[in-house]
Amino acid sequence: MRLLLVEDDRMIGESLCEALTGDNHVVDWVRDGRAAELALDAGCYDLVLLDLGLPKKQGLAVLRDYRACGGMVPVLVITARDSVSDRVIGLDAGADDYLVKPFDLDELFARTRALLRRPAGRAQSLIIHGALTLDPVNHEAWLHGQRLTVSAREFALLQVLLSPPGRVWSATQLEEKLYGWGRDIGSNTIEVYIYHLRKKLGADFIRNVRGVGYKLGEP
Ligand code: CA
Repeated sequence: MRLLLVEDDRMIGESLCEALTGDNHVVDWVRDGRAAELALDAGCYDLVLLDLGLPKKQGLAVLRDYRACGGMVPVLVITARDSVSDRVIGLDAGADDYLVKPFDLDELFARTRALLRRPAGRAQSLIIHGALTLDPVNHEAWLHGQRLTVSAREFALLQVLLSPPGRVWSATQLEEKLYGWGRDIGSNTIEVYIYHLRKKLGADFIRNVRGVGYKLGEP
């Protein structure tokens, strides 16, 4: 899934980028509050990890303004401030969860997964669509109970198409979900992944919506 990391500390930012990329997310990293607002305007994120102490505009102000404008993406606040009142202020400003530095990476991964489940209304960590089951924790996929071999990008593409299953996605929107800024994307990369997924899942599993893009077939 595509994450926006807002963190001004270079060392923390670099280590979080590396860890989250290793957990199969696409991460865009910005270092101040204004840059965070510009990135949020692009509107293609599944989760925001937000530091509170930021140059140019404080994290709490970014969060309040984002929610006031109707921004719905889950926000996980990551901060060194750990008093109860700081946490309450953060949650009241529209944060979905709170992590106090320093924290264990496994806890970050678990909270990230929990927040990414929310928009699709799933309480379970397994994603099931007809004969297909995805396990985002272990990055495993099964079809009719048989383990499937899928690449990290194919897995990510399936996850996007399943969130929620009825939605139609254009190739451009799928590219935005699968790639961060500045990556060199081949002109028909998404089509290639879809081709490989259809070979593994069946031709009807991913449908073409003429002139628009793709959606999952009925389960
Ligand atoms: Ca900071």
